[in-house]
Parts: sequence; structure tokens; C-alpha cells
Amino acid sequence: MPLYDFECEKCHHAFEAILRMDEPWDTLACPSCGRKKVRKKVMPIRTNAWSSFLDGMEKRVNPHKFK
Ligand SMILES: [Zn+2]
Repeated sequence: MPLYDFECEKCHHAFEAILRMDEPWDTLACPSCGRKKVRKKVMPIRTNAWSSFLDGMEKRVNPHKFK
């Protein structure tokens, strides 16, 4: 199941939620302030391949973080 990143438009709290493809996300409430004003962030699906790709990029940019 895809894991999506959301950000609250009110308090800018960032959180993740797992949704089915056909599940509406605009009824999601922010876990921090409870408002239903959340924005789906651009990066839709986080797969293992994508995570290791990001780690690889991070290692290149910030090698000291991985010592
Ligand atoms: Zn909020």
C-alpha cells in the first residue's frame, strides 16, 4: 500500500498516512491540530528502492552524516 506524505496547511505539521489508491485523502485530519486542511506532498510513493536511492543521494551530499 502506498505511503503518502501530508502536510497540514494550518500548523504545517508533516505526517504520513497509508491510503488505498481509491481512498479520498481530503477528509484526513491533521494529527496535530485536527483540522481537515491537509496537503498531499509531491512525493507519492516511498518504496524501498526509493529510500535507498535517497540514502545514496544523502551520502553523496552529506557523507559526514553516515560515518
Ligand atoms: Zn495541523
